[in-house]
Amino acid sequence: MGAIEELEDDYEEPPPKYPYKIGETKQLGRFLEATRDIQKGEVLWSEKPLVVAPVAVTPPVCLSCYTPVDGSYKCPKSGWPLKGPECAKAVAGNAEVVIPHQTEGRFEIDDYNMPCYLYESIGPLRVLCMQKSAPKKIPKDKKDGITFEVT
Ligand SMILES: [Zn+2]
Repeated sequence: MGAIEELEDDYEEPPPKYPYKIGETKQLGRFLEATRDIQKGEVLWSEKPLVVAPVAVTPPVCLSCYTPVDGSYKCPKSGWPLKGPECAKAVAGNAEVVIPHQTEGRFEIDDYNMPCYLYESIGPLRVLCMQKSAPKKIPKDKKDGITFEVT
């Protein structure tokens, strides 16, 4: 027996990187299938979020640090309620700040203790703007995601 054959006999397949594989059937579509026992609480994967934004249904929060706000400080450019000037500086280039500033749009939040519909737009708007700012992060193939158009 040669050295290479001995090495091949000792060779074991490395464990898969992930404890699952992606399957697909016409009936189910795409799905994950476990490739080994998965422990309770085990992290299966982690990845950076595509965007970070307030949840859609929320009482008013700062668009930078996401802490609740009461309207005592507002972004000087857009009027969004923020925690303070540092947060205003952090979001100054965001579309949700730039667009109202460019269009001289103003809005009022009536009740700072109730969910405000304006926050529903922040996440989708940030994703849409990624088409210009980070186009490689937006899936092009509709099989993997939705393609957005920003004109
Ligand atoms: Zn903040």
